[in-house]
Amino acid sequence: MPSILNADLHCHSVVSDGTLTPEALAARAKANGVELWALTDHDELGGQQRAALAAKNLGLQYLTGVEISVTFINQTVHIVGLGFDADNPALQRGLMQTRGGRGQRAMKMSEGLAKAGIQGSYEGALKFAGNHELISRTHFARFLVESGVCRDTYEVFRKYLTEGKPGFVEHRWASLKDAVTWIREAGGAAVIAHPARYKFSTNEEFALFSEFKNHGGQGVEVVTGSHTAAEYLTYADAAREFGLAASRGSDFHSPDESHTELGTLPGLPGNLTPVWELLAHRIQHTSTSGPGASASTGH
Ligand code: AMP
Ligand code: MN
Ligand code: MN
Ligand code: MN
Repeated sequence: MPSILNADLHCHSVVSDGTLTPEALAARAKANGVELWALTDHDELGGQQRAALAAKNLGLQYLTGVEISVTFINQTVHIVGLGFDADNPALQRGLMQTRGGRGQRAMKMSEGLAKAGIQGSYEGALKFAGNHELISRTHFARFLVESGVCRDTYEVFRKYLTEGKPGFVEHRWASLKDAVTWIREAGGAAVIAHPARYKFSTNEEFALFSEFKNHGGQGVEVVTGSHTAAEYLTYADAAREFGLAASRGSDFHSPDESHTELGTLPGLPGNLTPVWELLAHRIQHTSTSGPGASASTGH
């Protein structure tokens, strides 16, 4: 039964806002019993080749992954891409554009925090960023914890980094249509990440799901570290209603910060198509006999 497979198709490395290397994540996934894994760094494919190689060496099946930042009805939505060709030029170009505004945004965030009495946060956040192109709110959060302003990163987000707070800066990311199209045209499946996290009205959420589907989106995260058990069921219903496949992923970032460990979430609720069934031909197997063993992983 494919849905019993321990698949964890959402997590972050030092290439975006995680604290572990792709190799350490692969080892951790393996130790936790994960059988099919994807590294999904924000707006960036720089960790894909390392992740795929580490997975191969550990006997872990692998799907390429990314989490694209999108603006939809003035909110940030995350679209996970899985099983694409990481060498695809249009996808690479689109991601480069998407992450391109992060440096300026970070400087503006730093100005906002300075007005609230917190100095030097741009330089402080940069120290935590393994990839300077991917400077994110998470790196600011780590700096504010290090400097003793807050106890943990959750408190930083609540007090400083969310809408209406001093370090929050409006930003326009990729369009939903572009993100889905880049993933699809690179041979992958697009998945709506952690839908319960968005603050959409019922009508807006309906618009998100229907437009996503119309653009060729194929899946939705049902079981994720960001959802409660009740939300698993809500989005299992949404998956069935919209004819979307279901995904499962911890969204693990760090042993010190994340509440959800790699590979430990419950399985998908019944009567859903697991997204990895749609991507069977894109899975990188560990033996040369498996289908898709030679799928490209990029550089
Ligand atoms: P950015 O792409 O710079 O806007 O940063 C988004 C990242 O910040 C997410 O991927 C999460 O890792 C983290 N994040 C967002 N909201 C919160 C929150 N409320 N608490 C903790 N981390 C959060
Ligand atoms: Mn993140
Ligand atoms: Mn996300
Ligand atoms: Mn994520």
